[in-house]
Amino acid sequence: MTELMTLHARLEAAAYKISDNFCYNCYRVEIGGKCIICGSDDFMRHVDGVGAEYGTEWVIDHIIQDRCESVDDEALFDEMLDECYPEIELGCCSWTPSHVMSELDPTAYRIGVQEHIDSLVEDCQLYESDGDYYQVFDIEEMLIDIESE
Ligand SMILES: [Zn+2]
Repeated sequence: MTELMTLHARLEAAAYKISDNFCYNCYRVEIGGKCIICGSDDFMRHVDGVGAEYGTEWVIDHIIQDRCESVDDEALFDEMLDECYPEIELGCCSWTPSHVMSELDPTAYRIGVQEHIDSLVEDCQLYESDGDYYQVFDIEEMLIDIESE
């Protein structure tokens, strides 16, 4: 869990870095720590071309979706199956384990895909953002870019 918290703290810092303070009262971006017109420091976050909202979670989702590519959950599961189990041979034919499972038992296959994704999330290898999953190492690479900008 610590790893994930560290990652989230870095994402939050990146979200602040790529967004601006936005005073909703005066409907303007403020460079300083307080709005020079109304004196408020209760800022929304503002991202050019995207919008303004309170909180950083939407900014985090935005930067991940904008800069990283989500994983193909079925391809990840197929890769794992085909690495762990041998090809299935019958006579002169052979099939990959992932193909056999998805064809013969689509329900078990779908459950397997989701369980595999869940275990990778638990392992801090994948990060969930808005219903899609991203490789943590892609996110870390993106963070290094943002942190050095
Ligand atoms: Zn203001």
